[in-house]
Amino acid sequence: MPDFFAYRDGELYAEGVPVARIAAAVGTPFYLYSAGSLTARYRRFADALAAERPLICFAVKANSNLAVLRLLGGLGAGADVVSEGELRRALASGIPPDRIIFSGVGKTGPELDAALAAGIRQINVESIPELRRLSEAATARGAAARIAIRVNPDVDALTHAKISTGKKENKFGIDIDEAGGAYELAGELPGIEPVGLALHIGSQLVDLAPFRRAFERVAELVIELRGRGHTVRRLDLGGGIGIRYHAETPPEPSAYAALVREVFGSLDLDLAFEPGRVLCGPAGLMVARVVYVKEGSSRRFVILDAAMNDLIRPALYDSWHDIVPVRLPATGAVLATCDVVGPVCETGDTFATERELPPMAENDLVALTNAGAYGAVMSSTYNSRLLVPEILVAAGRFAVVRPRPSYEAMLALDAVPDWLGDGSRLPGASAGELTGEPLRERGAA
Ligand SMILES: *Cc1c(COP(=O)(O)O)cnc(C)c1O
Repeated sequence: MPDFFAYRDGELYAEGVPVARIAAAVGTPFYLYSAGSLTARYRRFADALAAERPLICFAVKANSNLAVLRLLGGLGAGADVVSEGELRRALASGIPPDRIIFSGVGKTGPELDAALAAGIRQINVESIPELRRLSEAATARGAAARIAIRVNPDVDALTHAKISTGKKENKFGIDIDEAGGAYELAGELPGIEPVGLALHIGSQLVDLAPFRRAFERVAELVIELRGRGHTVRRLDLGGGIGIRYHAETPPEPSAYAALVREVFGSLDLDLAFEPGRVLCGPAGLMVARVVYVKEGSSRRFVILDAAMNDLIRPALYDSWHDIVPVRLPATGAVLATCDVVGPVCETGDTFATERELPPMAENDLVALTNAGAYGAVMSSTYNSRLLVPEILVAAGRFAVVRPRPSYEAMLALDAVPDWLGDGSRLPGASAGELTGEPLRERGAA
């Protein structure tokens, strides 16, 4: 069980609050984040790198809740954003523009404009067409865009193919062989001020070797560019440090920091990092309730009220999340093999296959661990399920930091054009009876 979530007398607690009490107050499913865990994880990372005096830009796409951003921003974090929406979230949370970096392979004209208007620290440019588009946008506003060239170092991150970003065949960054030319071009284009290089080779890396290969290639490029007379002040080393979901042994922040020092220690660079998962993954649970236990002829299915629309990682990446009971079974309870699934009409809506679990019965609460990163941010309303709420717990108290919407609010997002009629003439139409009241008053048909 990750830090800050612990059993007391057989009950799962989050920072002194029984998880069952939160479930009773807000209903299930929900995400539960620990402020203490987020704080401790940020500090551990920042302390390991403190000697480099880096800027640590939290990768907002891992968890973009405003409360999480406010908390991390308060600890000194900046933000790595990949869309105008994330830029607005970072600014709304109070993170100052000079701590915001904009990454991403397909920033649109309006998004580049928004970044220039906000006066953010740096835009990481990933292609020549983007560089030209940014030059035009900056010139039009009479601004100078500070940019880093994102380098694709052609290194295998040895992670899941869907979250590997540093190979030549991946869409990200500019090939390392062409990055020098791009840097030169950046220096010539009006409205562009090249300040350095950026790098991010993938996510959930559990081995330092790919980091080392990528870092060494970029260090060479820094030296080469400086040798040709270019100023290279900043280096953004991205994120990607993995966490332990199951049996992985990810690097400690201290080992990662030692590698950074070893490769870049003598280059006198302003370093930035963009960690996401490692800061927030273990700081979150998804809590759900067992709806049914169904004995199939070959499997036992534990059917939860949470589904792939709430947590898509198992369906998307075949990823593992521990599933633990909120109330521990009596000692000596026998484990049973089951599939843990959601109610969505997709076979991929499976959280665990043939998993050994303690006895589970209807209405039991369970928690899926390590769900604080790439969980709520990837949720949807597929199957017209309500967007999953988020709760933040801190030292004995909790707050709903994103409420569960109402069904009315969900339906109100759609609009039916007048020319489809008001529904009263649909064949066999009769009043909706969900509430016992007709859904709307009808005139004479
Ligand atoms: C996703 C992403 C990150 C964060 O990755 P983690 O694995 O969550 O640390 C950092 N930088 C960029 C450019 C990204 O796309």
